[in-house]
Amino acid sequence: MPGFERFGEAEKKGVQQVLDTGVLMRYGFDPMRNGHWKAREMEHALAGRMQARHAHLVSSGTAALTVALAGAGIGAGDEVILPTFTFVASFEAILSVGAVPVLCDIDDTLTLDPRAVQAAIGPKTRAIMPVHMCGSMADLDALKALADANGLYLIEDACQAIGGTYKGKPLGSIGHIGCFSFDYVKTITCGEGGALITSDAQLYERAQAFSDHGHDHVGSDRGAEGHALLGYNYRISELHAAVGLAQLGRLDEFLAVQKHHYTVLRNAIEAMPAVTLRRVPEGGEENYSFLSFFLPDAQQAMRARRELSEAGLDGVFYWYDNNWHYHRQWDHLKSAKSPGPLTGEQQHALNGLENRSFETSDRWMGRALSLLIKLSWTQAELEHRAAVLRSVLAGF
Ligand SMILES: *Cc1c(COP(=O)(O)O)cnc(C)c1O
Repeated sequence: MPGFERFGEAEKKGVQQVLDTGVLMRYGFDPMRNGHWKAREMEHALAGRMQARHAHLVSSGTAALTVALAGAGIGAGDEVILPTFTFVASFEAILSVGAVPVLCDIDDTLTLDPRAVQAAIGPKTRAIMPVHMCGSMADLDALKALADANGLYLIEDACQAIGGTYKGKPLGSIGHIGCFSFDYVKTITCGEGGALITSDAQLYERAQAFSDHGHDHVGSDRGAEGHALLGYNYRISELHAAVGLAQLGRLDEFLAVQKHHYTVLRNAIEAMPAVTLRRVPEGGEENYSFLSFFLPDAQQAMRARRELSEAGLDGVFYWYDNNWHYHRQWDHLKSAKSPGPLTGEQQHALNGLENRSFETSDRWMGRALSLLIKLSWTQAELEHRAAVLRSVLAGF
């Protein structure tokens, strides 16, 4: 998955162009720019590639989620449904706008289980936030139907699945808003950066104003612009956008390499009796950033992880024990270790998490392993990995 593996001349050239103008900021300073608007160019290219009317770049994927929530008008006391398997950014963004995270079980797609989501919808629910973990997607038709039936926003976290599709549409473009991360370990990188896409003009206007202190971005004198609304600073710099613009131009090249590497590993193991591949919803195509599968039970999954690592295979993830991605290790969330006071509703919801169990999620995650797909493997390394996988998993 990591774009940093393929960091080259195009990225350097873009950064040098920005340095030569001296305009490191994405807004203003028009006469000095020499025609370089890296953030704008990347937004234009991203919107086109993702079949959305608007794209807006921000400083991180976490910022994209935050700005998406703010753009949707979600704030104090509103509830947002998110999965038990995600990155901590999901609940960070929700808490940061004053809203309440409502954790919900996953299923064999390793993403939100629509039946669990249905049961979690209540009078204060404002949005469903599926997270397309490890390159594959949630059951978006089912979640969209639930969102529509209940008047909720569907906010796709596609940070780990850029380039994947569902029924022919790019992930991120199916909900009301889609979010991407361009941090250093994602499929394409800005160093640090993120973006949201939407085809809703009002969402876009509010989100982009919110990400830049509420600026209305009308006219060409930044100092004279009006305050459209209260905002914050989640801007991306031109330097980061220059890197991202070059990387975006290489997205399809990266995806093709990932698909090749993924397919070789998948072919090596998919017919093995102990292996069940993660379910990809009908009509979905992964971005091939991970190969995820289940062993028959948690004991065997743990043993497989150990034996794969002893056989020298890196990039094997057992998410069940992971510090950052799975609810079991989120003690700081469950005990509400906030530097300052939370809202009453947030505190109440987090108190309720300490004794909450997520047995369905635990059942799936306990059995799941994910293999990170790298771009930089040589054909020989790839074949060696496939052989190691086969020989270890043959023992199950
Ligand atoms: C990386 C990631 C984010 C946050 O992105 P940052 O750019 O690191 O802030 C959010 N959600 C998921 C699923 C991620 O993997």
